[in-house]
Amino acid sequence: MNTAFERPDPAPTPDRPLTENAIRGIFERERVRAQALFPHWEHPFAELRFNRARRSYGQAHRDGRIVLSRSFVGTTAVADLEDTIRHELAHLIAGIRYKHGPRWQHVATRLGATPRASGRSEDDVLHEKMSHARFTLIAIMENGEERTVRKVHRRSRRYTEYRLGRRGQRYHIKGDFVERFVYLDEQE
Ligand SMILES: [Zn+2]
Repeated sequence: MNTAFERPDPAPTPDRPLTENAIRGIFERERVRAQALFPHWEHPFAELRFNRARRSYGQAHRDGRIVLSRSFVGTTAVADLEDTIRHELAHLIAGIRYKHGPRWQHVATRLGATPRASGRSEDDVLHEKMSHARFTLIAIMENGEERTVRKVHRRSRRYTEYRLGRRGQRYHIKGDFVERFVYLDEQE
């Protein structure tokens, strides 16, 4: 029996920020892949929607809807987007009532969702934390472009006091240097 499976190729890095159409394209590619791997879905896929949520990247619903946050639009956070899509597709396939238990984990792993933690309980906690993170860390690149880094619970001086060109560590994202960081406060 061949139990090996192939992880999907990493996404090509976009040379321009994501549009809603690009996101739909990535979603469709992931959905087709998931359908080939798992013919039976507990909640058959119905439609992809967007909302304005800033505290949650995505949700899966029992009626087969997947909702993605529009905050992906304008970013180059393709890896986060893919991870979110696979995470939510795994909920539709495994069954939402099983939450992030072994059933979901099995599916999510096969879809190539990045494990967020070593253990399953930790994953639950982390997932929950992500959904309620107050701040979004944004990198302002040398050319003025803004890139969403991740959601966090508190500001860190490591980032608030960082300026490119000062002594000390220099941050870069995929080879481009970060000029400075800002936090978007979701409660403001
Ligand atoms: Zn989840």
